[in-house]
Amino acid sequence: MSVERSNSQAVKGRASRGLWAPRAHLGSAAGFFLVLAFLQVPEASAQRTPLKPGWNRFSAQDDINLGKRAAADAEKQLPLCNAPKVDAYLTQLGTRLAQKLPTGGVQYPFEFHCVNDKAINAFALPGGYVFVNRGAIEVADNEAQLAGVMAHELSHVALRHGTNQATKAMLAQTGLGIFGAVFGDTAGGALLTELGSFTAGGVLLRYSRTAESQADVMGTQVLYDSGYDPRAMAQFFEKLEAETKGKNPPEFFSDHPNPEHRVGRVDEEVEKLGGVPPNAKRDSAEFEAIKRELLALPVVKKPAPGAAGAVSAPAPPSRNFAEYQASSYTLKYPDNWKKYPDSNGGGVSFAPEGGVLDDGSGHSSLAYGLIIAVAQAKGDPNDGRALNDATSQVVQELQKANPSMKITRQGEHLRLNGRPGLSTYLSNVSPAGGQETDWVVTVLRPEGLVYFVCVAPQSAYDNYDKTFSSILDSVRFAK
Ligand SMILES: [Zn+2]
Repeated sequence: MSVERSNSQAVKGRASRGLWAPRAHLGSAAGFFLVLAFLQVPEASAQRTPLKPGWNRFSAQDDINLGKRAAADAEKQLPLCNAPKVDAYLTQLGTRLAQKLPTGGVQYPFEFHCVNDKAINAFALPGGYVFVNRGAIEVADNEAQLAGVMAHELSHVALRHGTNQATKAMLAQTGLGIFGAVFGDTAGGALLTELGSFTAGGVLLRYSRTAESQADVMGTQVLYDSGYDPRAMAQFFEKLEAETKGKNPPEFFSDHPNPEHRVGRVDEEVEKLGGVPPNAKRDSAEFEAIKRELLALPVVKKPAPGAAGAVSAPAPPSRNFAEYQASSYTLKYPDNWKKYPDSNGGGVSFAPEGGVLDDGSGHSSLAYGLIIAVAQAKGDPNDGRALNDATSQVVQELQKANPSMKITRQGEHLRLNGRPGLSTYLSNVSPAGGQETDWVVTVLRPEGLVYFVCVAPQSAYDNYDKTFSSILDSVRFAK
C-alpha cells in the first residue's frame, strides 16, 4: 500500500500505481451517456465524428510538464528494450501517426519508447510520452495493428484524458479522507507535484469506457489519415480478446477497459470515413524485421519477491501501546510505530520503522502498518445494507486505483467498539516485493464510512495479525 510523504514527513495515502484513495468514477449507465462527449452531428453519415478534449482544469502545457516528469520516472523504473533499431522504428512510425493527430494546435513533444516486458500493454503519459511493451509488438499481426495501438494511445494524449480524469477526480472527491489529503485544496501547481510521479499514474492512465470509445474513434481516424487499414486497431483488440478468452485478460484491458460494441463503433466510423481504401497499408518489411529482433531479445526477469532489492523487514511490533486521539475516536498502537498524520487532518497512518519504503522518487509506500481514513457515505449506521453499499463503493474505488488489487474475502460481519462493521480482505502488490494482504474494516458513522486498512506483506502477515486485531479492539468511538 503506497502512501506519499510530503516535505513535512506527513504521510498521505496513496496506492502503488494510483492514488490510495477513492477516485471519481462514472458509475451508472445513465451517467455514462450523459458525459459522452462526442459532438455528434445528426444525419452526418458521410462525416467523421468530431472529437475534442473534455473540460480540464489544467493547461496543455501542464500536460507536457506533468508527462515529462512522469516519463523520466517511468524510464527509471521500467526495463527498457535498449534496442536502438526498435526505438528508431517506433519513433518513425509514431511521428508519422502524430502528424495526423488533431491536437488543436498544441505542439506535444512526442517520444516513443520500447519496454522490455512481455505483457501485452502500451500507455501514453499526458503530453505525448508513449511507452509500448515488446509484448504488444510481438503479438501484433502486422504494422497496421501496431499503428492502431499507437494511434489509440496518441488519441488519449490529444483528448487529454489523463488530466481530464484528474480534474473529474478532484471535483468529485475534494475533501474526502485521504483523497482530500492528496488533492484537497491544492492548487494546480502543487497537484502537479503530487501527480508528477509515474507511480501516481493510476489516476492518469486508467481510462473510463467513454474515454476508451473516444480514443478508438480518433485512433481509427488517425489510422485512416495515415494510409493504414482503419479497421486494424479494432482487429487488434478483438484478437487480444479472442486469444485470451477464459484466461487472464492482457494488462492492456485493465488500463483500457473494453467499451461496449467496440468493433461495431469502429466499423461505423470506418463507414463515415468512406470505407477501407483499396490501397490501405497493412504491413511492412521493417515491422517484420523489428518483430524478429524483439523476439530474439533476452527477456528481463522481474525481480522475484523478497530477492535483491527487497528491504529488510521492520522490527516486530512492540507489545506496549501508545494512545492516539482523533476527533471522533481513540485507539492504541504499538509504541515502536510512528504516526503519520496526513497534512489535511483527514486521515492518519501508523507504521513501524522501515515499514514505509521510498520508491526512489521521493514517494513513500506503506508496506507494513495501518491507514485510517473516512469516505463520504450516508445512511443509518445500523442499516446493514448502507454499510454494505458504502463498503463496496470504497473497495471498488480502491480497485480502480490499484489494478492488481483483488478481493480475497468479503462480507464478514464483526463489531468494532460495539458498532456493526464489515471485514474485507484484499491482496495487492507489496512495495516490499511479492504480494501484500490488506485487511479492510469499515464502520458507518455520522461523519462517513470510517475505514481501517491493515497492511503487511502476505509472507509476514501472520506476524501482524494479532497486532492489527489489538489495535482494532482498542478503538473507541466518540458518542
Ligand atoms: Zn485506451
